[in-house]
Formats: sequence, structure tokens, C-alpha cells
Amino acid sequence: MKVFIVHAHHEPRSFNSALTRIAQDVLTEAGHTVQVSDLYAMKFDPVSDRRNFTSVKNPDYLKQQVEEQYAHETGTFAADITAELEKLEWCDVLIFQFPLWWFSMPAILKGWVDRVFAMGAVYGGGRWYDNGHFQGKRAMVSVTTGGGPSIYSPTGLHGDIHQVLYPINHGILHFVGFDVLPPFIAYGVSRADDTDRSNYLKEYQQRLLNLDTTPPIAYASLTDYDPETWQYRKRRDRTD
Ligand code: FAD
Repeated sequence: MKVFIVHAHHEPRSFNSALTRIAQDVLTEAGHTVQVSDLYAMKFDPVSDRRNFTSVKNPDYLKQQVEEQYAHETGTFAADITAELEKLEWCDVLIFQFPLWWFSMPAILKGWVDRVFAMGAVYGGGRWYDNGHFQGKRAMVSVTTGGGPSIYSPTGLHGDIHQVLYPINHGILHFVGFDVLPPFIAYGVSRADDTDRSNYLKEYQQRLLNLDTTPPIAYASLTDYDPETWQYRKRRDRTD
């Protein structure tokens, strides 16, 4: 398998960096090929603007999706976007490695998504969800949190972690067609003791070795929705 890890942590000695290093080692040892985009080390520019393009269709009014489509057709994405798109096309499995920041991903990773998941290149023209550009590929979030598992349970103060991650898992990864694996979550790593952290690293190794057999999250299929209203149809209302 070809695995592409997008790593979003600024500290090489962090637990997130330990998780990415372990992933590289374990997967390589198991015969897989790994590429890592270490966004801070690359000084990846997360700001999405005119600089995404080497030329534009309309210099008077920047409409990002129009320009993305144009750049896709004319090969005029900026070099850093083109390089990341090539890694996406190359991989069988995409992993996002990041600490949970404000119930979401760090801005550098969100900016990577904003710039690289470009219309024309990875979605558009009816390519979404089950029909998405990356159908047949898998993706997984590997996230660390400050809060413990209890506070992220369905009845916990912060709410269910799966609801917290839904915008990333469903709104980004599944939107562009990936089969999304259940997230790997290392809870409360800053306050955890060495044994807990060591157990998380072991657990992650097992998850990595089962990337190709782990059942993805069972999202409803496109045919479960009325194509006029995109409302979920009850089974008895379906014609399929
Ligand atoms: P680190 O603090 O770098 O590491 C934790 C510990 O692991 C350290 O003691 C380190 O030495 C040790 N370690 C490193 N490598 C290894 C190894 N190989 N083996 C064993 N131990 C090792 N949390 C929430 O829950 N929800 C939020 O919404 C949220 N928002 C935040 C917003 C911001 C802007 C920030 C800065 C933090 C936020 N947090 C939040 C907390 C954040 O999620 C955690 O601080 C983060 O997940 C911890 O991961 P880390 O990699 O930075 O850990």
C-alpha cells in the first residue's frame, strides 16, 4: 500500500510526531511505501488566495472555485498545490495526523485542505461522496486531544468525539470519495502517564497494520437521499 501522511504539529518531540514516526517505521517495515507532508517543516502556506494559481481566468474578481477549475484544466496550480495533489493521486491511504485544536484541526492543516482539495482536481461535476474522486481509497484521522475519553463521550461535556470529527470525516474526507476509517484517538496525552502513552503507541501500530482490512464508517449512500432535496429517504420511499 502507498500511505500518505499529512502531519500537522510544530514540535518534533511531540506525541503527534511520535505517532507519525511510528507510522513511518511500522508501515515501511511491513512493506508499504510512505510519504509524509510535514506541514510546519515544509513551511506550508495555509493561506488560500490568488497565489494558488500561476495565472487566472478573471484577474478582476477572484472566485476561488472558478479559478480552481480553470487551473485544473490549464495546469496552472501553484507548484506547492500541484505537489500535494500528486501525493493524493499516488496514495491508497491518506492519514491526517494532528492535535485537536478548538474542536477541529490546526489552521495549517485546514489551509492545506482549503488549497489542495480544489474544485476540478478533487471534486465537482457530480463527483462527491460515493461518486467521489477518491473512491476506492481509504482515509483516517489520527488525532490527540487534551480532554479525556469521558468528556468526549456522547453524554460528556464536550459532546461525542465522533460528532466533533464529523466535519472532517464526512465533510472533507468522505465528501471527496474516501472510505473513511474509524479515527485513531489518543485522549488526554499531555496528562496521561508513560504507560498510557506507550499503550496508545502500541494500539496505533495495530491500527496501522490493519489499514486495508478495517471496515470503514458506514455512512448512508447517495441513493439513500432524494436527489431533488437531498433529504434522507425512508427505505419504503426508495425506488432502488
Ligand atoms: P505533547 O504535549 O507534545 O506530548 C504529550 C506528552 O507525550 C509529552 O510529555 C511528551 O514528552 C510525550 N511524548 C512524546 N513522545 C513520546 C513517546 N514516543 N512516547 C511517550 N511519550 C511521548 N484539546 C481538546 O481536547 N480540545 C480542544 O478543542 C483543544 N483545543 C486546543 C487549541 C489549541 C490552540 C491548543 C494549543 C491546544 C488545544 N487542545 C485542545 C489541547 C491539545 O489537543 C493537546 O495539547 C494535544 O492534543 C497534545 O498533543 P501533543 O502532540 O501536542 O502532545
